Amino acid sequence: MADPKGFLTTERQIATTRPVEERVKDWNEVYVPGSLLPIISKQAGRCMDCGIPFCHNGCPLGNLIPEWNDYAYRDDWRAASERLHATNNFPEFTGRLCPAPCEAACVLGINQPPVTIKNVEVTIVDKAWENGGVTPQPPDRLSGKTVAVIGSGPAGLAAAQQLTRAGHTVAVFERADRIGGLLRYGIPEFKMEKRHINRRIEQMRAEGTKFRTGVEIGRDIDAAGLRRRYDAVVIAAGATTARDLPVPGRELNGVHQAMEFLPLSNKVQEGDYVTSPISAEGKHVVVIGGGDTGADCVGTAHRQGAASVTQLEIMTRPADERPAHQPWPTFPMTYKVTSAHEEGGERVYAVNTVRFEGDEDGNVQWLHLVEVEFADGKFEPKPGSERKIPAQLVTLAMGFTGTDAKNGLVEQLGLELDARGNIARDEHFATNVGGVFTAGDAGRGQSLIVWAIAEGRSAARAVDRYLTGASTLPAPIRPTDRALTV
Ligand SMILES: Cc1cc2nc3c(=O)[nH]c(=O)nc-3n(C[C@H](O)[C@H](O)[C@H](O)COP(=O)(O)OP(=O)(O)OC[C@H]3O[C@@H](n4cnc5c(N)ncnc54)[C@H](O)[C@@H]3O)c2cc1C
Ligand code: SF4
Repeated sequence: MADPKGFLTTERQIATTRPVEERVKDWNEVYVPGSLLPIISKQAGRCMDCGIPFCHNGCPLGNLIPEWNDYAYRDDWRAASERLHATNNFPEFTGRLCPAPCEAACVLGINQPPVTIKNVEVTIVDKAWENGGVTPQPPDRLSGKTVAVIGSGPAGLAAAQQLTRAGHTVAVFERADRIGGLLRYGIPEFKMEKRHINRRIEQMRAEGTKFRTGVEIGRDIDAAGLRRRYDAVVIAAGATTARDLPVPGRELNGVHQAMEFLPLSNKVQEGDYVTSPISAEGKHVVVIGGGDTGADCVGTAHRQGAASVTQLEIMTRPADERPAHQPWPTFPMTYKVTSAHEEGGERVYAVNTVRFEGDEDGNVQWLHLVEVEFADGKFEPKPGSERKIPAQLVTLAMGFTGTDAKNGLVEQLGLELDARGNIARDEHFATNVGGVFTAGDAGRGQSLIVWAIAEGRSAARAVDRYLTGASTLPAPIRPTDRALTV
């Protein structure tokens, strides 16, 4: 155990964010660089090394949290990094972006603020990179087997890294022009600077993974042909079909899916554009959807110089504290103030969009909304509550309904989908087509990075077994595993 009295003598302290007025003028991560270094060992010392660490359960990767907390407390950063990488291929992604269900399940969290697990995680891995502790781990010998991975998000990357290290020759195919999936083109730079992805890709290249960008399987390359050329295929194509809002005026200029708006902003940061072709500058912006994607639109709109930003959510405002029906150690739905929300804007709950109104040139100008009440399993409008708000740019951030079933991939392989529009699979991540597996949001539906990495790791084990008859690779989750609920 790190510090037997740490949880009694040390208060929880998290990373410091840069002042709002400073950070909205740039795109760098919102945290003060290095702010964790002076505090993090003591924070790690708050871990009680409790007998049954529920944080292991909260984390889909089964991260060995008390073990690396102990090393971090003792300043043994090399050993901490080894323990962290034993279960997580990309802790610099999760350490920045994970909502940290581990902290919701921390035993200390029953009656005190939980250990700052996510902050410890990111410090360990950042130090490891700085100290040259993250090096390529190429396989000792090659198996002679080949694997094609379709999609380069966290699931595809985790599967590819595991399979490459197991000795298989792996090629990752990505339809976008850069590797990373939603890490690259969904998540804004201020949440995670893209240099973290680039660094990992270099490590993976040095290990032997091949990357092909700008290639859409099902359109540019026939999917059935790809299957014939490779010994196995892993589909990690994400759940990229966005939920739409079919109300009058949806066709007006200025009404966009969040995933039309955010990638263009990320492309500005990559140097592809000087300004975004869909910019919030000087506009009244309305973001429909109160989740993380919506928050990313809010932070992006602020940085682009929006005149105002309003975020609409159909559900009622969540409670500040853990509700009774979501007890420890479940991950509760509480009211979250993300860094984007700290930067301004208005959040409106329990409202639904009725229609959009445009000007004579077909540009959206107003959004008509109505307050709603949830009754008998549906949202009922409150009579007389309709009003309109200015809206010159609207982004739809209402979630995703499943994998892209229109680009030929599903049809050419003859893949079965489940009732939710995800690629159907058995308990070994195998689809109905021999030698074709699926991992991440493509099979699970819209989820989180930590689940995607866990899926990629588990699917890699299934593929390794398929190719060689046995596997020593870890499998942190089963396809049917879900976050703990009551
Ligand atoms: C805006 C936004 C913000 C988010 N923020 C967070 C966050 O802060 N924390 C968190 O934990 N989760 C977050 N998520 C969710 C998280 O990003 C996803 O759960 C995760 O990226 C899923 O990983 P994946 O590898 O399954 O798929 P993806 O990351 O979606 O990657 C799939 C890739 O496959 C490619 N592809 C699809 N079809 C083909 C094809 N036919 N041929 C070749 N390539 C193809 C796509 O171009 C894409 O690059 C966010 C999601 C969004 C949309
Ligand atoms: S990956 Fe997420 S859940 Fe797992 S230890 Fe890190 S922050 Fe916690």
